[in-house]
Amino acid sequence: MSLTAGSTAVGASNVGRPFAKLVSRPREIVAVRCSLNYGVAAILTKLQKDCATPLPVLRHVADAMAADMRAGISVDGGSDLKMIPSYVDTLPTGNERGLFYALDLGGTNFRVLRVQLGGKAEGIIATKFEQVAIPPELMCGTSEELFDFIASALAKFAEEGGKFHLPLGRAREIGFAFSFPVRQTSINSGVLIKWTKGFTVSGTVGEDVVACLNAAMERAGLDMRVSALVNDAVATLAATRYWDEDVVVAVILGTGTNACYIERMDAIPKLSEQTSISGIMIVSTEWGAFTGCLPLTEFDREMDAESLNPREQIFEKTISGMYLGEIVRRVLVKMSEVGLFGGSLPEKLFTPFALSTPDMCAMQRDTSRDLEGVGSILYDVLGVNSDLCARRVTVDVCETIAKRGGQLAGAGIVGILQKMEEDSRGLIFGKRTVVVVDGGLYEHYPQYRSYLQEAIVELLGSEISRNLVIHHSKDGSGIGAALIAAAN
Ligand code: ADP
Ligand code: MG
Repeated sequence: MSLTAGSTAVGASNVGRPFAKLVSRPREIVAVRCSLNYGVAAILTKLQKDCATPLPVLRHVADAMAADMRAGISVDGGSDLKMIPSYVDTLPTGNERGLFYALDLGGTNFRVLRVQLGGKAEGIIATKFEQVAIPPELMCGTSEELFDFIASALAKFAEEGGKFHLPLGRAREIGFAFSFPVRQTSINSGVLIKWTKGFTVSGTVGEDVVACLNAAMERAGLDMRVSALVNDAVATLAATRYWDEDVVVAVILGTGTNACYIERMDAIPKLSEQTSISGIMIVSTEWGAFTGCLPLTEFDREMDAESLNPREQIFEKTISGMYLGEIVRRVLVKMSEVGLFGGSLPEKLFTPFALSTPDMCAMQRDTSRDLEGVGSILYDVLGVNSDLCARRVTVDVCETIAKRGGQLAGAGIVGILQKMEEDSRGLIFGKRTVVVVDGGLYEHYPQYRSYLQEAIVELLGSEISRNLVIHHSKDGSGIGAALIAAAN
């Protein structure tokens, strides 16, 4: 099997749908079929200006990302970026054997996975995985409720052993991919720093999440123990490294976002006491918390102020799947107040998070003449009636927010590569380098993906970009967690 869902040499590919500017459309259509008023036009123009990501802005973001990484890795609290050492210094080699489980707690779904490894000769013999949606009430319940739910799903999954074999007398080993910021203290322990992505579960912050899971597994009567705790980015890096040793960075673009990379131990001043035989360690940047010089709008500021975690995770709120649709909705609300949808101001339009990022993406993919698909989504999801003009404006808003998100994500990736290049002189830009990306946003949003790639090419130039491969990995985090459990 392969984790690869597609890879692109960045220099080779480019943007999808051209940036649809209202002004560039034939005048008579605008005149005959549209009733764009000045208020709406002014909001759109200001939005496009505030969200603009010309090269100097992207360069600034990349430089700031590199500088923040350096500051954060020197000393705890040194920057917005926590730069958390993962304690993963043994990457899978392919020699691992046995039956391993993994649990992947993302922001929307949680996955359980079982993998039978047969060493160099047999590789991955079998895998089985199941995805469970996290019930919304558990995202704001108690720690025990959440972990009991996870443990019971895991118990059910583990019962169906099938053709998987476990030597007698051995507890099942599980790799735990946990995609929230954790202060890791060893490969199998870590304290939750804070919840993100809309979670407000009580009683977990400050606790060791491995202990929480172990306790829940005990309550469920499960003979399992966590042998590795990793976040999804770290797990994705480890999984893809199993197949391709040029992978140096892994990025998650799903509900939330994060990125990690392979760092030399001697370049991690805050771990100067720690030794590592391999001389390397995966470091999780926790880049969702980045704030440096981002092009933000009044809509971002309002969304942030009303969020469960105000003034935190600003980069995440600008580029990740949980938030893009909501930013668009907020722009549409303001436009509706100056008549975008005639007089109609239904309640749904004013409901936070009513418009999802997949809705936004679907609207951008509508190529019909009358934008009927856009019209139905606006009606079904937000309850508004729209004419062609309102639909076009809506698509332009989606385009603006997706472009900014994709381009900033691309600039962030360049920032990480820049930091690595500065330290290694030629080991990154002088040879084939692979950045692996996982997550539903990157996977399902082609325009976003194109803008991300476009920013990388712009920043690095076509020469260097040719050596850079952006590799899409699907569900690598689960397998990676199992592989790390195996390697440790
Ligand atoms: P998690 O972050 O929970 O691990 P995923 O990686 O599966 O989850 O990503 C889910 C996110 O991907 C959703 O929150 C959504 O924002 C985004 N997404 C899913 N489908 C689409 C789509 N068709 N278009 C755009 N974004 C999508
Ligand atoms: Mg995930």
